[in-house]
Amino acid sequence: MKMSETPKTDIMRLLPDEIAELISGEPYSQPAYRAKQIFSWLSRGVGFDGMSNLPKSLREALYQNCIIKLPAIADKLVSAVDGTVKYLFRLHDGHLIEAVLMSYEHGYTLCVSSQVGCRMGCRFCASTKSGRVRNLSASEILGEVIAACLDAGVRVSNIVMMGIGEPLDNFDETVRFLRLVSHPDGLSVGLRHISVSTCGIVPRIRELAALELPVTLSISLHASDDAERSATMPINDAYPIEELMSACRDWFLDTGRRISFEYTLISGKNDSAASARRLAALLTSRMRDGGHTLPLHVNLIPLNDVADTGLHRTAAQNVEIFRKTLAAHGVNATVRRRLGPDIEAACGQLRIDRERGERTEGERI
Ligand code: SAH
Repeated sequence: MKMSETPKTDIMRLLPDEIAELISGEPYSQPAYRAKQIFSWLSRGVGFDGMSNLPKSLREALYQNCIIKLPAIADKLVSAVDGTVKYLFRLHDGHLIEAVLMSYEHGYTLCVSSQVGCRMGCRFCASTKSGRVRNLSASEILGEVIAACLDAGVRVSNIVMMGIGEPLDNFDETVRFLRLVSHPDGLSVGLRHISVSTCGIVPRIRELAALELPVTLSISLHASDDAERSATMPINDAYPIEELMSACRDWFLDTGRRISFEYTLISGKNDSAASARRLAALLTSRMRDGGHTLPLHVNLIPLNDVADTGLHRTAAQNVEIFRKTLAAHGVNATVRRRLGPDIEAACGQLRIDRERGERTEGERI
């Protein structure tokens, strides 16, 4: 790019009101109602050429001055077991991210990435191994949803921000993405059907609560006390469990939305009966108001083994013992079904493998 050239507008990052403002000025000089048309076309993955209800001169001006940041499909793995689709997307600057499309009885759920890499350093996670490269823009996160819907020919009804990256470490673009994807003139995915998952950045949890977006907050807890949590999650040194629980309690009191706690079971680290009892005691004592335990849910996740971590999945029978122990102490938990076990559906692994060039051609679809 020449120094004098103005960068193109990342138009997929703009809400209809912002598009209206953009096109009211030079070189477009267009009425505001065109914004809704443009926004709606973009949400369906249509390029400027295909925006058939716009005047040709406007399409041409958009083409000259704007960029559509839709990711390209670099690879796609389809599970022979359950049809789960894992996308490896290539961004405009060549970086790779992942998204996973899962089919449930109630519709399709897409798991999206929020950053290229991650700097949170959780020991069991593939996404954080080589740190954070950069944040995704809201347009790139939205692009994952649009590209997956287009490719699979489906409508996504639920979104989980549980792919590569820490959404609350990319706060502004995450919030912008939530506004874009839920907008009625666009994909219109209800905020109630979107989960924002975090390793526990307490000030950002409070900031999100203040925005009063009715999303589901998912807390990656993975431990029953500070010693256990700090052993695998460095974020715990900055925001220990007591502070995290206090933010979670306030989240519920502010928003009325039930919190979901994720607990990945790691053999010999956090999966003993003592851990289960401590976890139940923690949740029933800290997530409490007016003599009642607040509505919450625990998801037990069998660890996806990641090379070089030395950490391994808890055996199935011990997962069941852990679940029953929790239940006996007043906390209901669901054991997460492993989707796409044959396609490395745990986010971050495909990108890492691809960058190291380890994956064999035989695994390709
Ligand atoms: N950074 C966010 C969202 C991305 S991780 C967060 O921490 O919540 C999405 C979920 O996958 C988190 O609960 C994370 O702890 C979990 N996870 C990461 N690596 C895993 C692995 N190897 N096996 C099982 N779950 C894993």
